[in-house]
Amino acid sequence: ELILAFESSCDETSVAVIENGDRILSNIIATQINSHQRFGGVVPEVASRHHVEQITLVIDAALKEADVTYDDLTAVAVTYGPGLVGALLIGVSAAKAIAYAHHLPLIPVNHMAGHIYAARFVKPLEFPLLALLVSGGHTELVYMAAAGEYEIIGETRDDAAGEAYDKIGRVLGVPYPAGKEIDRLAHLGQDTFDFPRAMVKEDNLDFSFSGLKSAFINTVHHADQIGETLNREDLAASFQAAVVDTLVQKTVKALEQYPVKQLVLAGGVAANQGLREALTNQLAISSPDIDLVMPPIRLTGDNGAMVGAAAHVELMKHHLADQTLNAEPGLAFVHA
Ligand code: ATP
Ligand code: MG
Ligand code: FE
Repeated sequence: ELILAFESSCDETSVAVIENGDRILSNIIATQINSHQRFGGVVPEVASRHHVEQITLVIDAALKEADVTYDDLTAVAVTYGPGLVGALLIGVSAAKAIAYAHHLPLIPVNHMAGHIYAARFVKPLEFPLLALLVSGGHTELVYMAAAGEYEIIGETRDDAAGEAYDKIGRVLGVPYPAGKEIDRLAHLGQDTFDFPRAMVKEDNLDFSFSGLKSAFINTVHHADQIGETLNREDLAASFQAAVVDTLVQKTVKALEQYPVKQLVLAGGVAANQGLREALTNQLAISSPDIDLVMPPIRLTGDNGAMVGAAAHVELMKHHLADQTLNAEPGLAFVHA
C-alpha cells in the first residue's frame, strides 16, 4: 500500500509517501519557525497562511521525491486533530480534495498517534506497549493494549514538557522553540540549583511542570534584582535534570503497574539527548527485558511520515473518513 500523508497541525507543513506503513519514500517538511520566532511562539493566523502557501509545493515535492503519481496511491491520510484549527483545516481540505479527485480512501489520523507511530520506522511495534509522549502541547503516558488502541494512564496537570522548555527559553534569551538549544546548554553545565521534581512521590502517573517553570523564573529574576549573574549552562542543566528526573521516575512507576513489551519515546521532546540517555540507563537497570524504542531525531518533530505510519493501522481496520471530515482541534485519546 502507498499512502500520501498530510501533517499541518501546527507550524510544519509536511507531506510524505509511505509504503506499507513502515517505509519512507519521501517526507517533505516545510517549517515556519523563522516566521514565528520574533513573536516567541506560533501565531495561528501566520501559521494558516504559510500552510496555504506551502501545501501544493510540498505535495508536488513529496510525489516527485517518491517517484510516484496519484495513480500509484492506495489512500490519502491526514492529521485532523489535535492542533490549531486553521492550520489543521489546510491539510484536511487538501487531503479531501485529492481523495475526491482521485477516488481514494481518506484516512483520519490523530496527531499524537502519529508521534507514537514514528517509532515504527525503527522496528515493528509490539503490544502491549507504553508510550512516553512528550511534545509542545502534550505530556502523557499512553498504554496501548493493541495496535491503534490508546489509553491515557497519566498526563500533565498544567504545562507540557516542551511548553516548559519554550517558556524558560524566553527568560534565558533562547529563541522559540527553545528545547534543542537548552538541551545543548544543559550538557555544558551542572545540576547545581536543585529545582523541584513535582509529584514524583505521589501515587499517580501524572505530571506537573508549572511549579518548576515558576521556580526557574523566580531564581533568574531574584538574581537580576540583586545584580548577580547566574551561569546559563548550570541553569539549563538544573532545569533539564528536573524535567528528565520527573519523566523517568513516572515512567518507571507506570512500567511497574503496566507490564509491557516495549517503551516508545515519542513527540518533539523525544529529541532531548538528556532524556534519551537517562531512559536508556534507567531501563537497563530496572527493566532490562523491556525494549526501548526511540525514533531518530529527524522523526521526533511534526512530520508526514509519522502520520502515514499511524494511518496504515487505521487502513487495515477500515477506519476511513468521508468528505464530511472536519478538523477537531481538541481531539483526544480516551482515559483509562
Ligand atoms: P503537539 O505534538 O503536542 O501537538 P507540537 O506538535 O507543537 O505539539 P512537537 O512539534 O511535537 O510539538 O514538539 C515541539 C516541542 O519539542 C517544542 O516545545 C520544542 O521546544 C521541543 N523540543 C524539540 N527538541 C527538543 C530537545 N532537544 N529537548 C527538549 N525539547 C525539545
Ligand atoms: Mg512544530
Ligand atoms: Fe506534534
